[in-house]
Amino acid sequence: MTAQPLLAPRSACDLPVLRQRGQREVFCGLTGIVWLHRKMRDAFFLVVGSRTCAHLLQSAAGVMIFAEPRFATAVIDERDLAGLADLHDELDRVVGRLIDRRPDIRTLFLVGSCPSEVIKLDLAKAAARLSLGFGNRPRVLSYSGSGIETTFTEGEDACLAALVPDLPAEGRDAEASLLVVGTLADVVEDQFRRLFADLGIGRVAFLPGRHREDLPAVGPATRMLLAQPYLAETARRLEDRGARRLAAPFPLGAEGTTDWLWAAATAFGVPAERFETVTRPARQRARAAVARHRAALENRRIFFFPDSQLEIPLARMLSCELGMIPVEVGTPYLHRAHLDPDLSRLSPDLVLSEGQDVEAQLDRCRAAKPDLVVCGLGLANPLEAEGFTTKWSIETVFTPIQGYEQAGDLAELFARPLDRRNRLEV
Ligand code: SF4
Repeated sequence: MTAQPLLAPRSACDLPVLRQRGQREVFCGLTGIVWLHRKMRDAFFLVVGSRTCAHLLQSAAGVMIFAEPRFATAVIDERDLAGLADLHDELDRVVGRLIDRRPDIRTLFLVGSCPSEVIKLDLAKAAARLSLGFGNRPRVLSYSGSGIETTFTEGEDACLAALVPDLPAEGRDAEASLLVVGTLADVVEDQFRRLFADLGIGRVAFLPGRHREDLPAVGPATRMLLAQPYLAETARRLEDRGARRLAAPFPLGAEGTTDWLWAAATAFGVPAERFETVTRPARQRARAAVARHRAALENRRIFFFPDSQLEIPLARMLSCELGMIPVEVGTPYLHRAHLDPDLSRLSPDLVLSEGQDVEAQLDRCRAAKPDLVVCGLGLANPLEAEGFTTKWSIETVFTPIQGYEQAGDLAELFARPLDRRNRLEV
């Protein structure tokens, strides 16, 4: 069966974890708004925060200056902080003005930040009050993207977890359905939809969908396939609603995508021959596209700083499909149950670290002298200045990398900095 992985899985529990609790260099969860607002076309994200939050969003997603924006910041100023204004009144006024101008908004997220958390502004209560006042049009929800509570991709987890109570319940005797959980670029979602249809899996939904009316029903007949590795709370809430998670590696690379699709195919009783016929052409294209970068990446040593929580599936893809050697794989949080199928395909020789103590990790990186360092923007420039070749981990979040047709682009993301370094040296 071609769905077999390249490396035989072994028990992931044998990999020891280096746990670190020191200074971190990561974005906060507000960053998720950049890709969430693109996906959810009738949603609006109102950050209740400071000018710093507004600047972060504007610089991360500056293109929205030219379009009708679907995110904004309600700035908490000195008057608010000094307790001279009633923040709930102010918030009601800002939201009222927004809804008057934008009646097309179907879901409004009030997004908490460090300042709203420090002054203990209860956004959950505010959202419930506003939603009631508007008769749920728009539906007002809240979640926290603050740097105190969340790192980078955890913002998406908090947002999707806030949506789970809004999902309708399955009808009695509902047929089995597949729910793909985690934001995927539209082009990737469309490719997967076609593959599932060709496999004969008819009832498929994606969370988040493009519009509020796409919210899928959930219940004991729901089989959930995670498309992103940072959705611990969302998955927990879906499981509480009865959904059952299908264990699979994440859909990165030709083999990762095959194993991910195979998990769904097995759950829905798709015959192996049909699976082979449907997936073979795209799998062969993906293998060929990945192989074009093998010479540049094989036997190169790679070091991951913790950033996006994609580090473990990326390390699996780069080692199993391109022959790279991960020396340290850092992740902000390690959800063993979700990551076991990827972890079990990694070599036991690497250092697996969770959390961060940035100075200690920089020392380990310097000692390891990797060929390529994957890290956040803040660390990349200083490391380049020291002679390291770096890859910004944020690119793996902002670029469509899942699925067969993107496998070659994913490999190229890692080959490019090494190629650039070679050219500079020549
Ligand atoms: Fe900075 Fe906190 Fe605002 Fe994020 S939420 S931009 S960490 S102040």
